[in-house]
Amino acid sequence: MTGIAFDPDLRDMRFVIYEQLDVESMSRIPLYADFNRELYDMVLDEAARFARETLYPINGKGDRAGCKLEGGKVTTPPGYREAWQAFRESGWVSPGTPQEYGGQGLPAPVALAVGEIFSAAATAFAMYPGLARAAADLLIHAGDGWMRSTVVHRLISGEWGGTMCLTEPQAGSAVGDNRTQARPIGEGKYLIEGTKMFISAGDHDLTDNIVHLVLARTPDAPPGIKGLSLFLVPKFRFDPESGALGEPNDVVCSGIEHKMGINGNATCVLNFGDTGDCQGWLIGEEGQGIQIMFHMMNEARIGVGLQGLAVGGIAYRFALAYARDRIQGTRIEDLKDALAPRVAIIEHPDVRRMLLWMKAHAEGIRSLLYTTAMYHDLSLNGPEAEREGYKQLVELLTPICKAHSSDVGFEITEQAVQVFGGYGYCGEYPVEQYLRDSKIFSIYEGTNGIQALDLLGRKVAMGGGILLMRYMQEINEILEAARARPSLAGEIGDVEKARDLLGATTFQLAGFGAAGDRAYPVLQATPYLNLFGTVVLAVELLKQATVADRALEAGGASLADADARFYRDKVRTARFYVKTVLPRARSLAKQIESGDRSPIEAEF
Ligand SMILES: Cc1cc2nc3c(=O)[nH]c(=O)nc-3n(C[C@H](O)[C@H](O)[C@H](O)COP(=O)(O)OP(=O)(O)OC[C@H]3O[C@@H](n4cnc5c(N)ncnc54)[C@H](O)[C@@H]3O)c2cc1C
Repeated sequence: MTGIAFDPDLRDMRFVIYEQLDVESMSRIPLYADFNRELYDMVLDEAARFARETLYPINGKGDRAGCKLEGGKVTTPPGYREAWQAFRESGWVSPGTPQEYGGQGLPAPVALAVGEIFSAAATAFAMYPGLARAAADLLIHAGDGWMRSTVVHRLISGEWGGTMCLTEPQAGSAVGDNRTQARPIGEGKYLIEGTKMFISAGDHDLTDNIVHLVLARTPDAPPGIKGLSLFLVPKFRFDPESGALGEPNDVVCSGIEHKMGINGNATCVLNFGDTGDCQGWLIGEEGQGIQIMFHMMNEARIGVGLQGLAVGGIAYRFALAYARDRIQGTRIEDLKDALAPRVAIIEHPDVRRMLLWMKAHAEGIRSLLYTTAMYHDLSLNGPEAEREGYKQLVELLTPICKAHSSDVGFEITEQAVQVFGGYGYCGEYPVEQYLRDSKIFSIYEGTNGIQALDLLGRKVAMGGGILLMRYMQEINEILEAARARPSLAGEIGDVEKARDLLGATTFQLAGFGAAGDRAYPVLQATPYLNLFGTVVLAVELLKQATVADRALEAGGASLADADARFYRDKVRTARFYVKTVLPRARSLAKQIESGDRSPIEAEF
């Protein structure tokens, strides 16, 4: 692959973490009392170095080689095992998990930045620790004492891997249609029987054992999601007290998918109990499976949004570097002069438009995701009186984090290919792979269509609209802060109108529902999520512009050149988004208010 430097946007990450979110103030929480900026900086620099030296070099190779299933064993691409070893030795599996379980215990926005860096370098590789971490977090929350003491440490240290096994051939979005059976055999143990498919990291050669978290149905369980329970099903049996490994557990990988992207991550068909001897332990109580999974979903969904940011964000950086380098054509002013000097494509207004579009979207979703992660952290660990307010914001924003960030991440990556021209379409540069890798983000962890239904049907409707009201209050506070910056006057009015449009459109859709028309709001759920996401990014970028404009004034002539340029461009980025992207909110609102039901009536 042609050498294009891996250069994650640490400057922007630091801007969000320190200047916008003031993460240092989280040290008032006892959990984070020992941390400071010096340590966070060191973590970010080290993560970037590790990603650059160890992960990015295996990304393209991993894509080309893919995973292999031979003789019932799955092998990861060349270089993955060595990278995994180095990764776990450096303690990177779980930057955000509490230290008592072997994690680094970092505040969520810093842990998220580390995740962004790794996923930007090799998103397929980063899914292995991501799933181990998700399994560990679930067991910390819902597992028995021995699961926490024996299993969690092994997941966090990278000794064992983890998976989430929901999907079955006939049960994708409709999780309640799961058929896998679980029959009790005493002492909290069950015999599991069924087939799961599309299981990420379902089998591989990186770890000594894999713990599968499997949704299954106990005898006489009611139909639908209420009848689902959750089980810990190991690849190899182990002693719950010591963790010592025993015999294989009748879990067989019968196939791996040949996919569009994320080829370094094994997507497996798993057969549980083909010979009737697959043992699993119940997690929580019978019938609590979905409830426990739901607890995990906010984090998991923010995690997929983060993949969109990571891939889209680095694709923007690749495109920026390429545009500075690639010589083609002359400046528009010299069009008629055949001998005029040739310029880098970054000189062309259309390329600059693409770059600023990418920058605005990458920075907008970074701000949204880091902010939501911080709110999630504060909803769990912050002052008691503030927790509920943060929880409301997280509930509302999670489907937007997942769906809008994954859609936007894909679109940024597509624009990056465009900036590279024909070279971008070929395997010589990384953006071709990144575009393929990023498509899955809108599909797994609940398709974006399902996220839209969650937003409109559950989150916005919840408690008579209380979550939305809480978010409107948040927007108003951001607008209030922006009003103190005269240079943002031109943008504030537009964001206010967008806020009102979002409120009015929500009200209108609720009206259809209240009148007994369930089909129309459901038809418009995705345009509604797109409208919501478009407005949210305007709010995020306005918030950033406020911080940047303040920093410009405070720093004055003493600001370093690079900082002054960074802040000025922050303000320009917000302006560009508000003036040229936000108008899309109006057309989406018009689409929603049109009342057009043709897709429902169409006679396909
Ligand atoms: C690479 C990869 C990795 C994966 N990793 C995992 C994993 O680790 N664990 C796991 O359990 N699963 C995993 N999945 C499965 C993934 O979560 C599912 O593919 C996803 O939930 C969609 O299910 P489906 O593919 O059956 O599509 P379907 O559910 O058949 O959906 C097809 C289309 O119909 C739409 N649709 C379906 N139902 C509705 C509805 N009620 N209303 C509106 N629209 C609807 C969907 O939005 C989608 O556009 C993975 C999939 C892939 C491809």
